[in-house]
Amino acid sequence: MDYGPSVEDSGAVRDWLKDRERFGHFIDGSFTAAGRGFVTTDPATGDTLAQISQGTAEDIAAAVKAARKAQPKWAGLSGQERAQYLYAIARTIQKRERFLSVLESLDNGKPIRESRDADIPLVVRHFYHHAGWAALMAEEFPDHSAIGVAGQIIPWNFPLLMLAWKIAPAIAAGNTVVLKPAEYTPLTALAFAEICQEIGLPRGVVNIVTGDGETGAALVEADVDKIAFTGSTEVGRAIRAATAGTGKRLTLELGGKSPFIVMDDADLDAAVEGVVDSIWFNQGQVCCAGSRILVAEAVAERFETRLARRLERLRVGPPLDKSTDVGAIVHPLQKDRIVNLCRQAVTAGADLVGGQPGETCYVAPGYLREVSPANPAWSEEIFGPIATLTTFRTADEAISLANNTRYGLAAMIFSESATVATDLAAQVKSGVVWINGANMFDAAAPFGGMRESGFGREGGRVGMLDYMSAPTIKDIKEKTPK
Ligand code: NAD
Repeated sequence: MDYGPSVEDSGAVRDWLKDRERFGHFIDGSFTAAGRGFVTTDPATGDTLAQISQGTAEDIAAAVKAARKAQPKWAGLSGQERAQYLYAIARTIQKRERFLSVLESLDNGKPIRESRDADIPLVVRHFYHHAGWAALMAEEFPDHSAIGVAGQIIPWNFPLLMLAWKIAPAIAAGNTVVLKPAEYTPLTALAFAEICQEIGLPRGVVNIVTGDGETGAALVEADVDKIAFTGSTEVGRAIRAATAGTGKRLTLELGGKSPFIVMDDADLDAAVEGVVDSIWFNQGQVCCAGSRILVAEAVAERFETRLARRLERLRVGPPLDKSTDVGAIVHPLQKDRIVNLCRQAVTAGADLVGGQPGETCYVAPGYLREVSPANPAWSEEIFGPIATLTTFRTADEAISLANNTRYGLAAMIFSESATVATDLAAQVKSGVVWINGANMFDAAAPFGGMRESGFGREGGRVGMLDYMSAPTIKDIKEKTPK
């Protein structure tokens, strides 16, 4: 496909793909021969990008064995020594930001502006931040030790960023890992494996096995000490059942249906930009997207007029075009899911503004008006660029609507009064609350959910603790009273 004149140069990435064509797994520091598997495609065109191997239970066992063997030596390095490897990873990704951004946008369909300005810089920051934690291990976590081998399973919406969220804290703390990327978007994980080789990361510290849910299930069953999963609530529930009674540590980062509250004193232009950043960013394929807009009745009309105007100005187009705001949905099945959920919502009485399906994997951004809690769009995660819009009269009603969900991942509150905003924030049941903003991430700020959005945190000190044990072993001589 001709992406037009303003396209980010994809030549280097296409050469890289041409040189490889078929990918094996990354186990014990080397790539295995490519096996039977599936293809990964460019969702904007449907073109095949590469052949990917389907990881078997044997591949998982080999990866876990390599991780197990490498772990004591890795944990035995000083924190400073581990930090050097994390710094080297961060620096190499930083040098290759352009390449990785293009690869991510090709495989996932996200606009190049987002992979270049959000995904990859956040990945770099995550490795730098955790290099810092590794260096500080002896001072900050003197009584803690690594858990052992972590099995990590990630989704397709932020492929390299989710990898960074999993791998950086795990290896900083002295664990070794076996990571399974999502089947729709394995390419940046494989490029990351090459970076591990290039910087001389000891063999077996990071292992990457590609494949679908069956490969993921095999990893859950394998001899690992912890499972860290990010993905759907449904699969999270199955993993929780499978690990129950096994003694494996577990963290789950699952779905959401997060409220986006616009109070009557809100800066409406800022709130409209918040919606853009929240539900139209990454085609709405964001676990913490503000997918339920709740707006005070007194300002609803003015807010909606501005929202509709802003919606018209969004440019839907090829992911590699630098002027694109909204790219392609990751896969035709996801597109169908979004279109079907919108149809159901309309049948149940909602009014769809925008949101029309286009060619290949494109879906125009939009929102559903007149959505009450009885409408399926209120409770079902659409995972596309479509929010619901509902009005409220009082702050109490806003809170009751906000908490009327099985999820509890994020909430966004727009108000010019710090008192009003912080008072509401304290009452919303969610792991993260953003005030007058949306999707604000930092490696130092722990992220995670409550209720059916899961448990465990990623980022910052709390995120590190999720990859450590704290045995209560004390030096008896030191502690015995004289
Ligand atoms: P998914 O649950 O279908 O897949 C996620 C990963 O799990 C993939 O790698 C998949 O291959 C694997 N998997 C599938 N079945 C499995 C099984 N039985 N056992 C083990 N692994 C299995 O989710 P998805 O469609 O890739 O991602 C979208 C979902 O992820 C949304 O619900 C979204 O909200 C959620 N998500 C949450 C966060 C968060 O931090 N809370 C972040 C991103 C995405």
